[in-house]
Amino acid sequence: MTTPYDDMWEKLNLDLAAHEGLLQVLGKFYGDIYLSQSGRLKGMEYLDFVLSEVHGLRIRELQEAKARGQKVIGTFCVFVPEELTLAADAIQVGLCAGAEIGKEAAEKILPRNTCALIKSFVGFKLARLCPYIESCDLIVGETTCDGKKKAYEIFADYAPVYVMEIPQMKQACDSNLWKAEIARFKDEIERVTGHTITAAKLKEAIKLVNARRTVLQRLNRLRAAAPAPISGRDALLINQISFYDDPVRFTAKIGELCDELEESVKAGQGIAPQDAPRLLLSGCPMAVPNWKLPFVVESSGAVIVGEESCIGTRNIRDLVDESGDTLEAMLEAIADRYLRIDCACFTPNPERLKHIVDLARDLKADGVIHYGLSFCQPYAMEAFKVEKALQDAGIPLLNIETDYSMEDVEQLKTRVEAFVEMLH
Ligand code: SF4
Ligand code: SF4
Repeated sequence: MTTPYDDMWEKLNLDLAAHEGLLQVLGKFYGDIYLSQSGRLKGMEYLDFVLSEVHGLRIRELQEAKARGQKVIGTFCVFVPEELTLAADAIQVGLCAGAEIGKEAAEKILPRNTCALIKSFVGFKLARLCPYIESCDLIVGETTCDGKKKAYEIFADYAPVYVMEIPQMKQACDSNLWKAEIARFKDEIERVTGHTITAAKLKEAIKLVNARRTVLQRLNRLRAAAPAPISGRDALLINQISFYDDPVRFTAKIGELCDELEESVKAGQGIAPQDAPRLLLSGCPMAVPNWKLPFVVESSGAVIVGEESCIGTRNIRDLVDESGDTLEAMLEAIADRYLRIDCACFTPNPERLKHIVDLARDLKADGVIHYGLSFCQPYAMEAFKVEKALQDAGIPLLNIETDYSMEDVEQLKTRVEAFVEMLH
């Protein structure tokens, strides 16, 4: 099938036949998991459109921006401060890594017991499937977990990679290291873009990214209503799209969606019955199109009311302090905000345990599903402490480890259904 984008994809050196296969799988998956939902909000039409054009219109926008001289910076982790990218007049996109499709290529060079996310981003590159990766002038990695940091060494043979050092603890010396890393990243972005980051530009960028976080916070607060006004699948999709859509347009559209949601809440309307068990998902990020577990949960009679995840509250909970006026004060505020991220890569990581319990209570969740990608040691190990903290708070937990394959769907369904049944 030919499309108006074939020339663009060819210029990006995609493997057109394999890419067509990916789009078909994505379209079918989206139809089954998203478009089959009943009573969806009008505001979701925008998200449906954005997703249907994920490799089309948005990539064309990026190419047009590049033709005007803007650079595109790709990331795999929420530690990379978008404020600096935007202040240098570049565009930052979160690279998704949520599909299994390049796995075979990835397993030729990575150990089999590597998490699906890492295999996915390496596989997408090797199999020439991702127009975002191919649009990037720089890909920023980070030393969060061992798997990622070693994979970036390999990835660097295929793409322009820059790696940020993320501390493992949160003591004064770690905070100094992190501030130095932010300064180093600023220099690198200035080098790649050829633009100097000024205080005025950085202030504007801080406000822009904060505005997007604020609208997502509003969305999350609305999900505390019973009955739940929006499905967890749709909320996850919104969070996923926030990583690659234009930030101004996205914020405006989600604001409109929140207005609609507010009306539903006032009218006492929801997308699930009032007594449907409410679940919080907690753990590893779920990148596009990793919708397996949310689909299993929500087709088992429960509704997801929150995501304690980097594609969820971990990415939007904290704002950057907007009061600084000098470059120095703003860089300090950025360093401070990003070091509050409670990724399982930190040790110890007590903040995350508290955040999970608080979030479950705020959202009136009846239970928590802890989700770890197979072979992800940080989250798998931390699940033990999460379970203990939730037990102390009297909140039931189901611990799930899985990957992107569909082979275990029936087995997951059985476990999730039993958990949901227990919560009724
Ligand atoms: S879970 Fe940790 S490593 Fe993964 S995106 Fe979040 S902060 Fe980065
Ligand atoms: S899911 Fe775990 S193992 Fe995989 S990249 Fe993230 S932190 Fe590393």
